[in-house]
Formats: sequence, structure tokens, C-alpha cells
Amino acid sequence: MTALKDKDLLRQQALIGGNWVDAASGAVVQVTDPATGQVMGTIPDLSAAETRAAIDAADAAFASWKKRSHAERAALLERWFDLMNQHAEDLALILTLEQGKPLSEARGEIAYGASFVKWFAEEARRIDGTVIPAPTNDRRILTLKEPVGVSAIITPWNFPNAMITRKVGPALAAGCTVVIKPSEFTPYSALALGVLAERAGIPAGVVNIVTGMPAEIGAELTANPTVRKVSFTGSTRVGSLLMAQSAPTVKRLSLELGGNAPFIVFDDADLDAAVEGAIASKFRNGGQTCVCSNRILVQAGVYDAFAEKLGAKVAAMKVGPGTQAGNDIGPMINRAALDKIARHVADAVAKGATVAARAEIPEGQYAAPVVLTGATTEMELASEETFGPVAPLFRFETEDEAVAIANGTPFGLAAYFYTENIRRAWRVAEALEFGMVGLNTGAVSTTVSPFGGVKSSGLGREGARAGIEEYLEVKAFHMGGL
Ligand code: NAD
Repeated sequence: MTALKDKDLLRQQALIGGNWVDAASGAVVQVTDPATGQVMGTIPDLSAAETRAAIDAADAAFASWKKRSHAERAALLERWFDLMNQHAEDLALILTLEQGKPLSEARGEIAYGASFVKWFAEEARRIDGTVIPAPTNDRRILTLKEPVGVSAIITPWNFPNAMITRKVGPALAAGCTVVIKPSEFTPYSALALGVLAERAGIPAGVVNIVTGMPAEIGAELTANPTVRKVSFTGSTRVGSLLMAQSAPTVKRLSLELGGNAPFIVFDDADLDAAVEGAIASKFRNGGQTCVCSNRILVQAGVYDAFAEKLGAKVAAMKVGPGTQAGNDIGPMINRAALDKIARHVADAVAKGATVAARAEIPEGQYAAPVVLTGATTEMELASEETFGPVAPLFRFETEDEAVAIANGTPFGLAAYFYTENIRRAWRVAEALEFGMVGLNTGAVSTTVSPFGGVKSSGLGREGARAGIEEYLEVKAFHMGGL
């Protein structure tokens, strides 16, 4: 980390009530650079008692934070946004070192992450209520919007910066205070955001960051009645566990969970555009994104041509350390991720798929980008997220068949399709059971559009105007006897 311009951004302590702390037990968790396998440093492995202290700090800060004017909260968020931009290079480097993605992608994530803080600083000024005509003349009815309260923010390793700001931006704008629990694989991006929040002048206790192994911390965050909201991004397995753990205290929940995105190429598609879209949606972050195309469905008439064009691009991909310019794909996050990818490819090949293209990879924690032809719905990769650079091509004959395959999983996060036919565009967009649908584009993530899924992909929406509502309660205020 010698290359950091501001070394103070790399913190190896948790942030509770404005104090940077170690675990009382002295326990730590090591953080590893996935490109080299070297230990970057440690983080405190906090207990339930320390998590409780963070919740209490957030609760103490809530009393005054919610009373600040929207303009004051917005001004502090704007300052935080400016600092993220000023330190973008350092934030990107920390992100690449702990997560692995190419630096160019990390820079993109920092800009994307910061954009949520800016957006919700602006939205803070637009929190309003309504006046409802009352049933009798002597009454008035108003709705007031109030912050939900202390919010637990639990985030994954694949977007260690943006998944935090997409939650904390609206939470703070709404007047909530937060306890963030970042992934134990990528805590340093979160802690650097904590340093910048402090420098921005966001008061102590408004942003708390607890680190360590998740089960004990998560159990406290969900059981503690002071926490009124849990916002989680991660796997469906953990999301439903947190939902169950939150049930006894009936917390508000936002769950951004796993996906299994279909990417449908119809016979009438612009094939070169479809190949570009497939590359973008499949291989960004090495295929480790929740909106990644997991199943590429190609109509019979263009199947071979599409496979050839995609295969040529995939075989030419450069794989290596994210810090080395020119690499398209970095290391996978850990050995378990590599094992899952290998299992999916082996299962597909055993069931009749062919490796039609494969890129070279160096020694280390790398997965080869591959195109698999002859994929079928019986294969494991059809029903589970691979979370790696594997592009399986499924052949279909009719539009109805494509839609049925696309909808045929428990997930409903993102779906993509390519067609030049306007009638088909409407039909298919309406038939797809997903929270986000991309027509002739492989990108659906932007600050201004609601992000979220249906079915087992989750509850609630982030970003856009909808994002701040997740942190607001509606209070109906009835005035009588007028
Ligand atoms: P994960 O569910 O393993 O972990 C996510 C977070 O939950 C981490 O901070 C982890 O430490 C924590 N966690 C794990 N067990 C916990 C417990 N018992 N109590 C409390 N917290 C616990 O997911 P991951 O492997 O970090 O991320 C990959 C998954 O996230 C994929 O399924 C991906 O699709 C999903 N994801 C979804 C979105 C979205 O917006 N829908 C975005 C990014 C990633």
C-alpha cells in the first residue's frame, strides 16, 4: 500500500461512536490480496457486545441527526462526496488490492459509489408529505415523513464501495444513523469511507463500522430492538436468514439478493451489439456481479454466428492482477469462488456442453473466461449463479420458449434481450419477471434508476427517487376539532 497518496485512509480498526477501536478480545481477521495471496493487514473481529456498543452510539447520534435540517444533512453529504472524488485514486487502489477488479473498473466503481451520495444529498431536500382531504370539515389530515431510525447496513465483497454508499447515502439523507458491517473480505474500502465521513464533518456516531466474522455481529444487528431497519446486499441464503432473524423485532427490510440473469439474443438482433452487450454484462468484475448474465439464450438462426463472434472476443481477454494496466479480468475473490466455477464448468461438460473458447490465465487465483456451447437447463449453471467468467450459450427456437426459460428460476433481478423488432420489444419486456430489464443494452445499473429484484432476488429498491423511501416512515397526522 506504499502507493497510497494518503496513507491515513487505510485503517485497520473499527469505527464506533467516533472512536477507532480494536476488539476487546484482541481478535483479528486477516485480509488478503486475491491477486498475490499476501496478507494486506487485519481487522478487529468484533463481538456481540461491541456491535451493541455501535448500535447504542448510532442510537445516541440519531436524536440530534434527525433534527438537523435537510439542508444541513445535504451539505455534509456533499462534502463527503467531494472528498470521495478528491481521494478517488486512493479509494480505487484500496478497492483493487482487496477485491481484485482491474483498476479501471475500480475507478468506475468509486465514481458510481460517490454518485449515490450526491444524488441523495439532493433528494434530502425533497422529502415532503401530503395534505389529504378529510371526511369531515372539522378535521385535517397530513402525512409526515420521518426517518426509520438506526439502520444496519450489511454489504458484500463484489462492490465494496458502491454497495455501501447506495445504502448509507439515502439513510443519512433521510435522517437515519447507521451501523455498517462490510464483508470481511473487503473491509478497507468501507473503513476508508468512514475516514472521509469523519473529515466531512458528519458527527460521531452517525456512521459506525463494525468488522469481523459475520454470524455474531449479524445476530446482534438483527435481534437488537434499537435497530429499526436492515438493509442487506448479498446472497439469497444469508438474506433469508437475516429476514428470519429480524422477524421477532419486525424490522423494515431491504434485501438485494442473488440473480440468475438471462441474456436473450433473438434472430433479428444486431449481432455485434449483442456481443458487446454480452461482454459487458457477463464479464464485468470477472463475472462477479449480481446482475451478470448467467444464462445466454440464443435463437437457433444466429446461434453459431453469435458463438463464434463472442468466442473470438473471450479468447482474447487479458487476465491478471487488477493493478496491471490492460487486464480485463482480475483474480476471483477466493478459493471457494474458483471451486464453484470449476464445478459448474465440469458439470456442464459432463452433461454435453463444449468449451468453444477459452482465454489464457496466469498462475494464481484466476478463472479462465470461457464460452460454453450446448448448455441445457439440466446443468447446474442454469439454476445457480456461477459468479465467474463463464458464458454458457443455450439454444432456443421460439420467443415463448425463451421467455419460459428466462423466467424459469426462483430469481428475478436483471434480464437483458436483443431484438430490432418493436412489437417483440414490448411483449418480451412485459413478459419477463424481473426487477430490471435491459433492451439492446447490457447495463442496467445507474444512480437515477431503481435497482432491485423480485421473487428470491429481494425486496425494495435502491437508487433513484425510490431509494430514500426505504429509510422513511409515513406518519398520518390527524387534527380534529377545528
Ligand atoms: P454473502 O451473502 O455471503 O455475504 C454478504 C454479506 O453478508 C457479507 O458482509 C457477509 O459477511 C455477511 N454475512 C454472511 N453471513 C452472515 C450472517 N450470518 N449474518 C450477518 N451477515 C452475514 O454474499 P457475498 O458472497 O459477499 O456476495 C455475493 C452475493 O451477493 C451474490 O449472491 C450476489 O448476487 C449478491 N449481490 C446482490 C446484489 C444486489 O444488489 N441484488 C449486489 C451485489 C451482490
